[in-house]
Amino acid sequence: MTSLDDLPIRPDLVGLKPYGAPQLSVPVSLNVNENTHQIPETVAVDIIGRLAASLLNINRYPDREFLGLRRALADYLNDNLGSELMVENIWAGNGSNEVLQHIFQAFGGPGRKALGFKPTYSMYKLIAQGAQTGYVDAERDDRFELSVETVQAGIRDATPNLVMLCSPNNPTGTPVALEVIVAAYDALQETTGGILVVDEAYGEFAHDQSHSAVTLLEGRPKLLVSRTMSKAFAFAGARVGYLAADPAVIDALRLVRLPYHLSAFTQAAAEGALAHSQEMLRTVDDIRTQRDRIVSELSAMGLDPYRTDANFILFAGLDDAPKVWQQLLERGVLVRDMGIAGTLRVSAGTETETTRFLQALREVIGK
Ligand SMILES: *Cc1c(COP(=O)(O)O)cnc(C)c1O
Repeated sequence: MTSLDDLPIRPDLVGLKPYGAPQLSVPVSLNVNENTHQIPETVAVDIIGRLAASLLNINRYPDREFLGLRRALADYLNDNLGSELMVENIWAGNGSNEVLQHIFQAFGGPGRKALGFKPTYSMYKLIAQGAQTGYVDAERDDRFELSVETVQAGIRDATPNLVMLCSPNNPTGTPVALEVIVAAYDALQETTGGILVVDEAYGEFAHDQSHSAVTLLEGRPKLLVSRTMSKAFAFAGARVGYLAADPAVIDALRLVRLPYHLSAFTQAAAEGALAHSQEMLRTVDDIRTQRDRIVSELSAMGLDPYRTDANFILFAGLDDAPKVWQQLLERGVLVRDMGIAGTLRVSAGTETETTRFLQALREVIGK
């Protein structure tokens, strides 16, 4: 049998591991921060109608500029964040991971490097490697927070062409203050004039939803805010992520995307979901309630949850996290071991799933 080692792959890919959160079939799956609620049936029916209509035209390529979808995404952001974005400010891809890949293809490349503040989303490094871009990890403050001083020092030390700020940060849940984002932007413009990407995959779960870097875009042409329909919108399987930025940035991303990269089905489904954004986001309040419940119950168990603005919680205080992970799995509950000693990460599920997680954890740690 041929193995990977026998193939003439690019030397810089040798020894790399693909992204690999376990996909196991268990009753309570709280390991990849999905919205575990199903979408409303009324919305599903509307989407099916739109998919059927697009099927009748499936002999033709889809709208390469996906203008209807971009209009709907701009309206969604404007309605919720008070911004005045136009179609020209919006980009989208098959998940925000593809959008991030477009960013690295357009603004990274050989001889350039990106900076992230660890621990952060593991895909940044993998996407950088795929785009032959260097990647540097800088440290965070105590309890994974990020201060103005820390981001500015990190940027001045590393002189990156791209900076990734994830807010709220995966896997820690920590939000990044808007003043820190502004300080990072200013420091980056003073050093390399590079691109600052703020990844707001979990933005809708924040305690204060108006806390978005979208509100900082005006006058900052190298600030890019990436978001996704995978989490709050409960649309992970549809693969729709998007970006708000200056129109010139969108022109740059158009240079590297594959033509017709968003299928007619994807565009139709996403437009259908956005036409019902209130209903689609109906579960967000409930998820926030379950998140806050997990935080207080973990504290009551003597564990140490980190500050979170997302739909998940990273918590410390475990003597043997891999063992606890395994014992939870044996009880039908899948969470995530991010390899940070003494910690596990859990997504806030439905009330029932959350209860099952808390019960299983109490059993495992004997509380
Ligand atoms: C889940 C997640 C995404 C979303 O990825 P999609 O490709 O849109 O599903 C992006 N960034 C972070 C930090 C995430 O956790």
